Amino acid sequence: MANKFNTKNYDYLIVGAGPFGMTFAYEAAKRGKKSLVVEKRSFIGGNTHTHVENGITVHDFGAHIFHTDNKMVWDYVRQFAEFNGFQNQVVANYNGKLFNLPFNMNTFYQMWGTKTPAEAKAKIEEQKAEALKELGDRQPRNLEEQAISLIGTDIYQALIKGYTEKQWGRKATELPAFIIKRLPVRFIYDNNYFNHRYQGIPVGGYTQIFENMVERSNGLIDVLTDTDFFDHKDEFLAEFPRVLYTGMIDQFFDYKHGELEYRSLRFESETIDSDNYQGNAVINYTDADTPFTRQMEWKHFDGLADEGKTIITREYPQDWDRTKEAYYPVNNEKNTELYKQYVKEARENAPEVMFGGRLGKYRYFDMDQVFNDALNTVREEFGIDDDFNFAHDDVK
Ligand code: FAD
Ligand code: UDP
Repeated sequence: MANKFNTKNYDYLIVGAGPFGMTFAYEAAKRGKKSLVVEKRSFIGGNTHTHVENGITVHDFGAHIFHTDNKMVWDYVRQFAEFNGFQNQVVANYNGKLFNLPFNMNTFYQMWGTKTPAEAKAKIEEQKAEALKELGDRQPRNLEEQAISLIGTDIYQALIKGYTEKQWGRKATELPAFIIKRLPVRFIYDNNYFNHRYQGIPVGGYTQIFENMVERSNGLIDVLTDTDFFDHKDEFLAEFPRVLYTGMIDQFFDYKHGELEYRSLRFESETIDSDNYQGNAVINYTDADTPFTRQMEWKHFDGLADEGKTIITREYPQDWDRTKEAYYPVNNEKNTELYKQYVKEARENAPEVMFGGRLGKYRYFDMDQVFNDALNTVREEFGIDDDFNFAHDDVK
């Protein structure tokens, strides 16, 4: 390894400069511990990384909206950035017809012309009874059953089936039910994509959060970018007594029990000579034939004026293989069983390594869950009961 840093000076090696790794490094620094963070990409922030172009903040790995009910986490992240009040209101385009998401009275009106909650509920019940005759009292076993039992067949066919099957590269009948429960179903006229009380996006983007962590660490966080842990694995493990690893857990063990499945993505961005191209931050293309799932127009995340150019990004799902980025764990039964073997392996053969984050824990975590879990790991590692609360003056 290019010996830029003397590895003996560190308390922790942290693999991955995403929210999990950086939060742990920052909290360790507050407790006087020094970390070397190695990151295979050339920048910090993981999948939340953003950059500013023509005055527009672009999220490099898909739209990231911070949303949580966890007041502690909300206060925690606002130490490092000011947040705007962005509320995601997604529009779905199904073969040229537009619907509001998530599923609410506007969607039901657009689909059926129903005007009251009772009419909409009756329509859903009728379709559910027809499509899922044998469901009875048992719980829905897969995403298709879950979706139909929540919103009926018409909306399932138009807004869920095509989108879901291209997003995951699998039949909706082969996907776990919990995935669709991420989206609210409401019988009021409310297009807010999330139910959470606290929502927003950092003004100027997410990257500053992690830059501020490094800056406020008083020199106790060193970051080595463009460095893949696996290029120096044996050396790192020999030299660091304690490691936090936020990459793929199966890769850490050289896939010895087999590969966990992931879903990958490809992003295609364009600067367009238009002051306002699509009139909304996110438009989902829910038919099966359009190869991308959603199209973002970044200026709308910051409420920027209709002037100058605009930047859009299309998100194309793709199969994962070892040459591609793993964006989503596929948390079905088969992978859950395999993941348990890796957890056992970690406990028995790598007790000096903590595994964390979306890839280290193989869990479909949102950012707030990742910050919360990282702070829990800090509590365990330092044997403390800190509630990480801040006096209001500390919160910018
Ligand atoms: P990551 O952010 O993935 O960071 C892990 C880092 O480890 C990466 O930088 C990676 O390069 C590095 N790494 C991995 N292996 C190695 C190695 N071998 N050597 C060195 N470095 C390595 N969450 C929300 O709350 N709201 C949203 O709106 C939202 N939208 C999303 C949209 C998309 C398209 C995706 C993919 C995710 C979205 N998320 C959202 C989830 C969010 O991205 C994650 O919760 C968060 O990034 C997880 O943080 P992490 O630190 O666990 O992992
Ligand atoms: N989904 C859908 N149609 C949509 C949007 C989402 O069927 O227009 C389903 C799809 O299966 C997706 C899941 O709901 O994977 C969760 O959506 P979310 O927007 O939370 O996905 P993420 O932002 O995590 O990719």
